[in-house]
Amino acid sequence: MRKPLLAGNWKMNKTPSEARRWFAEFLEANPVYAAGGEPAVEAAILPSFPLIPVAAEQLAGSAVRFGGQDVSAHEWGAFTGEVAAAQLADLGASYVIVGHSERRAYWNESDELVAAKAARAIEHGLTPILCVGEKLEVREAGRAVSFTLAQLEGSLSGLEIASGEELVIAYEPVWAIGTGKTASAADAEEMAAAIRNFIRERYGERAAANIRILYGGSMKPANTADIMAGPNVDGGLVGGASLEVESFSQMIAAV
Ligand code: PEP
Repeated sequence: MRKPLLAGNWKMNKTPSEARRWFAEFLEANPVYAAGGEPAVEAAILPSFPLIPVAAEQLAGSAVRFGGQDVSAHEWGAFTGEVAAAQLADLGASYVIVGHSERRAYWNESDELVAAKAARAIEHGLTPILCVGEKLEVREAGRAVSFTLAQLEGSLSGLEIASGEELVIAYEPVWAIGTGKTASAADAEEMAAAIRNFIRERYGERAAANIRILYGGSMKPANTADIMAGPNVDGGLVGGASLEVESFSQMIAAV
């Protein structure tokens, strides 16, 4: 049984003190997470790197997971500005986003680099949240599924996937990120089903049954239940709506 996951991508927002306040307020508002254990919906926050030690400290003993928004493909060394998977793992991170469309667009990250980052993360016990998704012109041309599966294939190249639990895939149509436009629940389900089918053909039934596939793109409390209704959608990667405790908590409740 796949546990739903709601992961908040804070992008480049919040100071350490704002983050500290957010974690304290979230745990107060959601005592089931504060108590640790295994709530029915897994919650994770992906803040920018300087906030990760704050997350580690504030979330210790709780059921809220945390992680990075990116990771280096390199192990260690002379790579100024990069952050190593081992550093995130040592701080207790569980997840790391790889291949977010903003990184693909503004830093020209290739599928090959995304695959190398995912491999490095897995090597260090982190679960990559691997993002794929099409631009508006691709969807309008009727090529959303073929484009996204080709991007996924490239972004998985060389990766060993056995149980399907070592990786999360996030379908994030680029035109829906931060724009207020959301894919319809039917479009999200169609893509999630196509991705699961791809995983089945490539890695077998066990991987397909276990792998979690998220939707991302202007998710908010009002559309969460609808998007989550599809049997292949296992949760969400949430940008803007994860910045406020209230909206993120409402989304967890809706899941
Ligand atoms: C994201 O950045 O991954 C995202 C989905 O952002 P938003 O929810 O703000 O569209």
